Amino acid sequence: MAKLPDNPDVLIMGHPLLFQSQRQVTIDEIHSDEFQHNLKVMKQSQFDSIGIGLAAPQIGWEVRVMSVGISKENHARYPKAPYIPFCYWINPQIINVSEETNWTWEGCLSVPGMRGWVERPVAITLAGYDEHGQRKEEHFEGFPARVMQHEYDHLNGDLFPMRIDDKNLLVPHEAILHQEQWAESWPTENARNTERGQLSSDR
Ligand code: ZN
Repeated sequence: MAKLPDNPDVLIMGHPLLFQSQRQVTIDEIHSDEFQHNLKVMKQSQFDSIGIGLAAPQIGWEVRVMSVGISKENHARYPKAPYIPFCYWINPQIINVSEETNWTWEGCLSVPGMRGWVERPVAITLAGYDEHGQRKEEHFEGFPARVMQHEYDHLNGDLFPMRIDDKNLLVPHEAILHQEQWAESWPTENARNTERGQLSSDR
C-alpha cells in the first residue's frame, strides 16, 4: 500500500484507476499508520473539494474505502441535501436494496462540469468496517442512500454517466444553475422541477 501525498489531485474521468474494481483491505492494514494517514488525507481532500463523498480511487488510493458527510461547510454542491454525519466505510457491501427506485441530479468530483438524472434504489443496507476496524451495518434511505450508492459504484469502477441511457438526461453543470429557464417539461417534468439534493419518485 502506498502512502498518499498530503494534497493528492482528484482524478478525472478517463484516468484508468477510475475504471477499475478495487481490492478489499485487511483489518491489520486498517490499523497501520499508513492507512490511518491515508484516511485523514481522504477526509481533507473531500472537504477541500467541497465534495459530499469521496471514494479512495478518486485520489489514487487503490482500496475499497469511501467517505461520506454533508455539513454546513460542504453542502454548496447540493444546497437542498440533508446533513449527513461524516463517516468512513471500509470494504463496504450493499447487502440489501429496495425494489422501489427514485431519481435525482448527480454530480461527481471526477466528472466536473456535468450533472446527470440518475435512477437508483430508494433504500439500501450497507455492511462494512469503520476506521477502527469495527464491523458496522446501517440502513439508509433517501439522499444518504443515494450518496452511498454513488461512492460504492466508484469502488467497482463505475461513474454516474454509465448509468444514464438517454443523452438528454446529462447536462452541463451551468445549466442546472438555471433550471427555471429550461423549456417546459425538459428533459422530463420531474427532472426540470427537482433541485440538486432533492429526490423524485418518477423519471
Ligand atoms: Zn463520484
